[in-house]
Amino acid sequence: MRRMCCVCQRIEEKRAWRYVPIKENEQLTHGYCPECFQAVMLELQALVVLKYKGNNKAMKSGKVQQQRGLGRGDACA
Ligand SMILES: [Zn+2]
Repeated sequence: MRRMCCVCQRIEEKRAWRYVPIKENEQLTHGYCPECFQAVMLELQALVVLKYKGNNKAMKSGKVQQQRGLGRGDACA
């Protein structure tokens, strides 16, 4: 099963991400390519900083990220 980036729609092939045609009945699993993953993480970090500004304890414990997961997961169904 190939993996498709749910942000830029590229497909992972042999560890490279490209815009390639999808077969009509192909089953794809969704994820993030490294570039989009980084972008999402930065976005998430910005959100977390905004939300928990001044609450350094929550930031350091890592609980904040665990609770929010990837944030955009809903778009990847
Ligand atoms: Zn991508």
